[in-house]
Amino acid sequence: MVLGSFLRFDGQESNGGKTLILRKFLSQLRALAGVIHGRRIFGGPIQANLTLANRCNLKCIHCYYHSPLLERPNYRGVRLARQINEQLPDDGYFNHQKKITFNRKGMEKILDELIKSGVYRFFLSGNGEPFLNKYSIDIMKKIKKANCYCLVKTNGTLLSKKITDELIHMKFDELHITTMAGNRDMYIRTHSCVPQETFDSVKNNLLYLAEQKKKLHTNKPQVSLIYVVISENYSGLYDFAEFAYKVQADRVFIQPVDEMGDTGLKRLVLTEKQTEYVREEAVKLKNYFKSKKIKHNIDKFLKIFSAQLDTREVYRLIPCYYAWLSVLIDIDGNVYPCYSSYRSMGNIYENSFNDIWNSEHYRLFREKSLKLNCSDKSDSICDYGNCPHYTANMKLHKMIDPVKKVFSHNYILRNS
Ligand code: SF4
Repeated sequence: MVLGSFLRFDGQESNGGKTLILRKFLSQLRALAGVIHGRRIFGGPIQANLTLANRCNLKCIHCYYHSPLLERPNYRGVRLARQINEQLPDDGYFNHQKKITFNRKGMEKILDELIKSGVYRFFLSGNGEPFLNKYSIDIMKKIKKANCYCLVKTNGTLLSKKITDELIHMKFDELHITTMAGNRDMYIRTHSCVPQETFDSVKNNLLYLAEQKKKLHTNKPQVSLIYVVISENYSGLYDFAEFAYKVQADRVFIQPVDEMGDTGLKRLVLTEKQTEYVREEAVKLKNYFKSKKIKHNIDKFLKIFSAQLDTREVYRLIPCYYAWLSVLIDIDGNVYPCYSSYRSMGNIYENSFNDIWNSEHYRLFREKSLKLNCSDKSDSICDYGNCPHYTANMKLHKMIDPVKKVFSHNYILRNS
């Protein structure tokens, strides 16, 4: 499919049958028309990120919400206050965040509305571990039943045999598993207070999944392993690569750390020397992954990788199109254009998704996202220096910029 390649943003996507292909084609066409037009939308988003849990069973040291190194959990209110240099929220805010619970009925309504609006790709994650949500499997089944693509971001510790069998049975599409390590020692260093056997248990979960997929002649769910490079694990890339091969991962994503302006996380940022070491290692690993037929993101990683994520340069050159493509809904029902935009566009429990997506508020956001480089800090709609979606924007820009130029050229000719 012509449009298929640029919208495999934030990951890869395997084929999902004829119905999904048609769904994708129409949704992408509408999104693309909106992006080219620049001031309108012609349909809903094509991807939705849904938050399933705020709690977690681990304390990964790079985690924005549960790391023991944190000053305080980096909820959106905190990130917004930092971005615009305002006072951090008070205790009431943090207490509320801790108390929010999952609303199953509300989530079913959201899913129905999103599917109706044209979403074909669901990304399930959270400020915690999605499989701690006791309805997670039901939600996944509902999404798969609607013929949509579904991906979950997990730490892999709760992938019991029962859950794995269910995932295979429903033809679940993709697991993004953050391990931060390729062996037990590194795992213990990157996960605070974790029992010795946790790494082995993640490994065994993955081995069982690989074995069952082989036995049942299926390639789903696809397994992507994530490695966020920090000062504690920068020397472990090769072990991670070997681990990925042993557990038969389909692909790996290596990512720079984002310390979110949290002083506690600053010590995880790499020194210049460590950064140089990682660059050299990453180049060598390309051959390893090639020989083992494991897909990877090393070329893209190297383009953007410094000691930490800084995507300001990208947005000096290109606009952001993400508000036409994707939406994020937190566990409280608040709707955001993306992970690093901190002001809610509305709440799904107060208005329909359609009304929020078509609102004036959202329209203004889209308009501003096309000229991020012009906004000053207090007026900025998002934290575009820490944008996790730069790859999608770069790909899309490369594809549509020539088309936009032709359109604006014709427009000028017609009106001159
Ligand atoms: S952080 Fe900003 S630049 Fe990145 S996707 Fe979100 S709105 Fe766009």
